[in-house]
Amino acid sequence: MNDIPLFLTNTLTGTKEVFKPLHNKTVTMYVCGITPYDFAHLGHARVYIIFDVLYRLLTFLGYKVMYCRNITDIDDKLLARAEKLYGDQMAYTRVADQYIKAFQEDMRMLACLPPTYEPRVTDNIADIIEFIQALIANKKAYVADGDVYFDVAQAPSYGKLSKQNLKELHAGARVEINPKKRSPLDFALWKSEPEGSFWSSPWGYGRPGWHIECSALAFKFLGKTIDIHAGGADLIFPHHENEIAQTEGRTGQMFARVWLHNAFVQINKEKMSKSLGNFFTIRELLKTVDPMVLRFLMLNHHYRAPIDFALDDIMSLKRAYQRLCVLFDQTPCPRLDKKIVLQSPLVIQMLEMVCDDLNTVGALGIVFKHAKQLAEDEQQRCAVKQFMQEVFGLSLQPLSEEEVQITSEIQQLLDERERARQQKDWKRADELRAKLVALGVQIHDTKQKN
Ligand SMILES: [Zn+2]
Repeated sequence: MNDIPLFLTNTLTGTKEVFKPLHNKTVTMYVCGITPYDFAHLGHARVYIIFDVLYRLLTFLGYKVMYCRNITDIDDKLLARAEKLYGDQMAYTRVADQYIKAFQEDMRMLACLPPTYEPRVTDNIADIIEFIQALIANKKAYVADGDVYFDVAQAPSYGKLSKQNLKELHAGARVEINPKKRSPLDFALWKSEPEGSFWSSPWGYGRPGWHIECSALAFKFLGKTIDIHAGGADLIFPHHENEIAQTEGRTGQMFARVWLHNAFVQINKEKMSKSLGNFFTIRELLKTVDPMVLRFLMLNHHYRAPIDFALDDIMSLKRAYQRLCVLFDQTPCPRLDKKIVLQSPLVIQMLEMVCDDLNTVGALGIVFKHAKQLAEDEQQRCAVKQFMQEVFGLSLQPLSEEEVQITSEIQQLLDERERARQQKDWKRADELRAKLVALGVQIHDTKQKN
């Protein structure tokens, strides 16, 4: 298996590269987490499912993965929500607790494995303050009347991830209305707040800005240089650019070696947004859509291609997923040793596909293409099933409420099979059964064939 290389498209270099971790068989991976001020939506489902597949794949490939995903539990949006819900912005912890719980339930439903570390910002304020102090000491940040700002002029490679240079960024920047900043590109590391509120710091009372937490938490939990940093493409600028400036400004070393970004989800060809009213939360969708169908939807698109989501497509997705479930549900499978799983030529083909920049679509295509063969070959079927459960996180339990539409093709095969059974042509009946199973038809014969 070691000879199957893993290729990933690195946003930093703009190319598809062979992945090699810094430290032998350990991989450090950071994914930007949620701000728990509301329920997680379809866009969150996409990012956390696809990087869960990467987490599972790396584990399957034999790496020990240290996966960190933060929780932004202090932020303007949380304060506003607390004010709205409870008439008190200081009730933000209550809001955060509520939506963190909901998010973790959503993730469990979607079979996303919990990360190794899931730190909350408010549990790590001392580390964030220490990080800011180090940036001030390195002359990368300055204090201005209780606030602290990152000095972008001191980060010569700023813009390297989003492929913009400082000159262009300056030209495109909005006219700064905050007189405390030296440049409109500078961003807050610490925001001052009235005496006695939030946290005390060397610069007075305040709270951290948004970008600093990811640098501080990645540094604390994963180290100076990490292997993989991932998130939605909307975070490339300014968030990820700022994370690089902060961490490299502190350590003088490269922050993340590989940057991965997934494309967005749009609804009926429009950007998903609350104001357009085309906004789906995960839990809303899960009232009518099986969580595995939602997971299957994400795997059915390459992570770097946008998904155009329409509720009408769910029916055909459901049917396609049900075909897989029925195919793999013919006989119970024992738990297989990984060596046995890797003896299946189809597993190897799927693994090569998914190791090619997470081509989950291609890997699923292999299963559909070989459905008939899989229906007949129990050993290979069990190997592929286990691979799909482990790496794709699909349960492959047939959807109970699903009724397969009887097409004329299915009806013909059913009739033909019935005739074969009457003629006691068991070989032909079994062949037809395999065909039907490959089309997603569950067959329960009442009569024994003797
Ligand atoms: Zn981040």
